Amino acid sequence: MLLEKEIAIITGAGQGIGRTVAKTFASQGAKVIVADLNYKNALSVTDEIKKEYNTDALAIEVDISNSDSVNKMIENSLNKFNTIDILVNNAGICQSSVPFEELSTNDWQKMINVNLMGTINCAKAVIPIMKKNKHGKIISLSSLAGEVGGISVAANYSTTKAGIAALTKSLAKYLGPFNINVNAVAPGFIKTDMTKDLEQNVDLIPLRRLGETEEIADVILFLASRLSRYITGSTIDINGGIFMK
Ligand code: NAD
Repeated sequence: MLLEKEIAIITGAGQGIGRTVAKTFASQGAKVIVADLNYKNALSVTDEIKKEYNTDALAIEVDISNSDSVNKMIENSLNKFNTIDILVNNAGICQSSVPFEELSTNDWQKMINVNLMGTINCAKAVIPIMKKNKHGKIISLSSLAGEVGGISVAANYSTTKAGIAALTKSLAKYLGPFNINVNAVAPGFIKTDMTKDLEQNVDLIPLRRLGETEEIADVILFLASRLSRYITGSTIDINGGIFMK
């Protein structure tokens, strides 16, 4: 078991990639906190985890864009499990491509508040706990769009995802001396609700298929485990070869 006795918060774990990460972590011995804006979905994921892995899990309703809500999530998590070892900043929103001039201030603000400030809020709330423990892993979801610009997604989305990669490097430098690893993953096109309405051309992907949520969760598992202990500040591409650095 790669995550025996570890306590992990996964945001946006009510569905999609986050749900698979929560289940993968539970299968590897972690106690997981399934945090989502959609409490009903979060509860159904914790039910699945309890049944399938015979382990404890906690569902929490959170809006990551609201720092009070995030602080409450941390308080509830500590009340239940006493500490936090792993944070997966997975919750995010997306917007399909539109001409740049059509993106309103509200479109920008909303994207920044959820994708970027949400990630910042969660990191800020767990850092004191991890610093005290001299132990911790923070993994955030960047995106292919953050590296190459939006393909079928709008500029506000790709901009926030590029911000996450830069934030990851800054946090890795700051938190390295406290034995806290900070990394990100940059998925390409993965089969979830987020991408179901996006235009996709599988012929452009060398592996000639979309990714599965398990293929992201396995890399996040690696980054959350001791196997990756000398990796920090990295953003790992998981994109079927559509973009090679
Ligand atoms: P999804 O839309 O299926 O799931 C996102 C989850 O986040 C939902 O459960 C939603 O309720 C939750 N959420 C949204 N706003 C929230 C908020 N303010 N507070 C708390 N929870 C909130 O998306 P997904 O495809 O599973 O994507 C997960 C992450 O991976 C996102 O950050 C996304 O940008 C990133 N990503 C996805 C892809 C892809 O192809 N699916 C590619 C690159 C990056």
